[in-house]
Amino acid sequence: MIGFFGGSFDPVHYGHLKNAVAIKQELGLSALFLMPCAAPVHKSELQFSTEQRLEMLNLAVQEFIDLSIDTREIDKQSASYTIDSLKQIQQDYPDDKIFFIMGADSFDNINTWKQYEQLSDYATLVVLPRAGSNQTNNEGVYFSKAPLVNISSTQIRSKIAKHQDLSGLLPDTIIHYIEQL
Ligand code: ATP
Repeated sequence: MIGFFGGSFDPVHYGHLKNAVAIKQELGLSALFLMPCAAPVHKSELQFSTEQRLEMLNLAVQEFIDLSIDTREIDKQSASYTIDSLKQIQQDYPDDKIFFIMGADSFDNINTWKQYEQLSDYATLVVLPRAGSNQTNNEGVYFSKAPLVNISSTQIRSKIAKHQDLSGLLPDTIIHYIEQL
């Protein structure tokens, strides 16, 4: 049983990392992959470049050694849809049960995703608690009992812009990385 946690990770933070470790343990997964998405092709809506987002993920997994990174979406160079990644993952891991992990805010909007009704053909969806969302029941979807971690990349980007302290929101190694950019 392996899990994939997709996101922009712009930047990665403890909300992702602590939840990823918690869900890996909760489900007894043998591996949990953080899977960064590619940047939009024509205009970058992201603050950090793909290379920087990946460097920060690499720093994160040095501290969170139970976690791994899957770069298939950024290697593709063009926008990826989760459904297509999951089809590919199923081919790559034919003997494993696949879990796809997302926050409750993402799950709230899942009906805007490409072929969202088919996602559960390729993976069991796992939803993490997130402030402002109170999804708790949906057939075929697993709702994690992990404690709420109220941190977002938006909050971190806004603090960076105001030169505010980032400690406690993401690993110190990443804070130092951001400070020297
Ligand atoms: P932004 O603030 O830029 O929207 P984000 O903090 O939501 O970013 P993303 O990289 O977009 O981070 O999120 C990737 C996935 O992780 C999404 O499914 C999101 O719901 C989930 N996620 C992010 N932060 C948390 C958190 N604190 N708790 C639970 N899930 C989270």
